[in-house]
Amino acid sequence: MQDIDLLKTRLKTPGKIIITTHHKPDADALGSSLGMANYLVKLGHQVQVITPSDYPIFLHWMKGNDDVLVFSQDTSSQCQELIQAADIIITLDFSVLSRINEMGEMVRAASGFKVNVDHHLNPEDFADFRLWNTNAAATCELCYELIVALGDEELIDKDIAECLYAGIMTDTGGFRHPNTTRNVHEVVAKLIARGADNSRVSKEIYDKNSIDRLRFLGYALSTNLKVLAESRVAYFALSREELNKYNSKTGDTEGLVNYALSIEGITLAALFKETEDGVKVSLRSIGEFPANELASKHFNGGGHRNASGGKLSSKSLSEVINLFEGILGDYQGALDKEFEK
Ligand code: 5GP
Ligand code: MN
Repeated sequence: MQDIDLLKTRLKTPGKIIITTHHKPDADALGSSLGMANYLVKLGHQVQVITPSDYPIFLHWMKGNDDVLVFSQDTSSQCQELIQAADIIITLDFSVLSRINEMGEMVRAASGFKVNVDHHLNPEDFADFRLWNTNAAATCELCYELIVALGDEELIDKDIAECLYAGIMTDTGGFRHPNTTRNVHEVVAKLIARGADNSRVSKEIYDKNSIDRLRFLGYALSTNLKVLAESRVAYFALSREELNKYNSKTGDTEGLVNYALSIEGITLAALFKETEDGVKVSLRSIGEFPANELASKHFNGGGHRNASGGKLSSKSLSEVINLFEGILGDYQGALDKEFEK
């Protein structure tokens, strides 16, 4: 961690703080944002969370959700004005400004003191204070450590603890991925001690499915899933038509790719989703297989070794599938290696 006094001094005087996180926020993104927002409000700051886009309904239970501004839905220039006027801008769960779309250049140009807390690879150097650790399972884990380092563990209440717990729970795949370290368990134990109702958080996130979402899952598994057993690859390719048929909402496909990865003998799983502005790609892998390398080399993206993503704007769904299947040969050695141990 950089010299914490740098940030401590900045936080001493109540000011205007903007918190933002990546496009299509997940539980770690929104949980760290609202966890930090609720904490900073307690310190006397005027805090506004702005997300670049909307996010799934199963995150709406978090305290402070109703006050979040969604940049893509802002028809006035309210968000831009708030960014320009901010004393401090806190950027969470991403470290490349393009991850917040048009907001990225606004944040770069803004005069506020910039803070970045993140656990992704290859960060951009835009922040005045950075807490960046790729060994952390979640940004929420780092936010907990930041609050403790600022000497404010006692200010973590039930609401803050539940926001942070949510991000750690989901970024570790429900405490199942290899990033579920001893520190993760120690931090969540402390969050529970600060009031987090872990069972409630889990229910809010995993057990609030719509019927449409479950029917869609059934369809995707029975009809859409393609398994290339020889290649050790499985993937879903969902067209807009298929998504519309099941009334698919933001967040409805989240976690779907993990079903493909759960098949015995599979090293790499993918989800290709046709959107208004191109094909969104999600990749998941096991072990040493570098899903992030695939994402950055072929899909304009990046991410973690075992969870990465990207987007191709100028290709059709079938072109993206052809491209994907075409490059698998280059990785066959690495795909097989996971099962030769
Ligand atoms: P998801 O598949 O859930 O959208 O994303 C998984 C991970 O991949 C994210 O946590 C993020 O690290 C990375 N990721 C997803 N989309 C992009 C993208 O467009 N660009 C970059 N650099 N990383 C992405
Ligand atoms: Mn994260």
